[in-house]
Amino acid sequence: MCKSENTVSLKNMVEPLLCWYQNNKRKLPWRENNDPYRVWVSEIMLQQTRVEAVKPYFENFIKRLPDVQSLAEVPEEELLKLWEGLGYYSRVRNMKKAAQKICDCFSGVFPQSYEDILSLPGIGQYTAGAIASIAFNQPIPAVDGNVLRVICRLTEDGREGSNPELKKSVTEQLRKIYPQEHAGDFTQALMELGAVICVPNGSPKCADCPVQFMCRAFYSGSQINFPAAAKKKARRIQKKTVLLLCCKDKVAICKRDEGGLLEGLWEFPNLEGLYSAEELETILKEMHIEFESIVFCGEKKHIFTHIEWRMLGFLVFCRTESSQFTWVTKEQLSKDFALPAAFQKFKKIAFADNDSVAHIQ
Ligand code: SF4
Repeated sequence: MCKSENTVSLKNMVEPLLCWYQNNKRKLPWRENNDPYRVWVSEIMLQQTRVEAVKPYFENFIKRLPDVQSLAEVPEEELLKLWEGLGYYSRVRNMKKAAQKICDCFSGVFPQSYEDILSLPGIGQYTAGAIASIAFNQPIPAVDGNVLRVICRLTEDGREGSNPELKKSVTEQLRKIYPQEHAGDFTQALMELGAVICVPNGSPKCADCPVQFMCRAFYSGSQINFPAAAKKKARRIQKKTVLLLCCKDKVAICKRDEGGLLEGLWEFPNLEGLYSAEELETILKEMHIEFESIVFCGEKKHIFTHIEWRMLGFLVFCRTESSQFTWVTKEQLSKDFALPAAFQKFKKIAFADNDSVAHIQ
């Protein structure tokens, strides 16, 4: 077959895809209406996070902060608590800045034009396209990893998924075929197809795919080769020793420095590098921390995008509450302080009862 005969006309996908979406779309909390605020919150939460994990966060967030005004005014500590466990905390800090900008520059009304939406902190081309199309039905593509994968498979485009030229060209191809009347549905249909049928891991469910009839990768059996994978950079390993300083029913926490990873969130005191219990005895004495015993309580790993933390945890039973730290009960920590997922792994151990500690020993 010569190249011109082989060229896929993406226009042919519009009708079958819209029809499939109408009959198969999942019921998701952010799809109850097309309020731009809800679309925005869900799209930001869904970056790097699975749909099932996002659902309870979304409901809780919208209940507490139902509109732009409430987000613009919420205290930072409470905002971080609402986001606790979702990770990538700069996302929610930028949301607050964007909400303040909407209040200051757009009279508190979510802007409609793509350029205005794109001018808000933390909103890139994908999110601006998603909001413009889903909330305001404008024919503007929103190209994320799911959409790239679908189009690369349909057209057997062999460029690497991370290649910015690929994203630009897919955006342009889609812009030409966007249905004016159903722009929002088309955006969501493409995302949905990538999320539940043309899946990234394992085999795509081509037998259930509404655009199988025009898919080049399906006909050649080459689905899993698209998009081409970029060579992964090895993650940087950081080793840490985490101190669970306990005194009666309280545990010590401190605030992370501004400007770095997980800035401004709370953490259990920790040291760079791995230490033995014996070495910790000396270090704790130098820190003037009065303690009775130190118990090793296991290793944990936490993976960020480019860094991996390998952590050793030690329970330290203190005689007094050192003033270097903030001391909190289990209830206070759960209710009022945002503790990143990397440290959540130690929370249960920090508040273990005596029997459990004996088991650790
Ligand atoms: Fe993806 Fe298969 Fe559909 Fe092609 S036929 S778009 S590979 S699910």
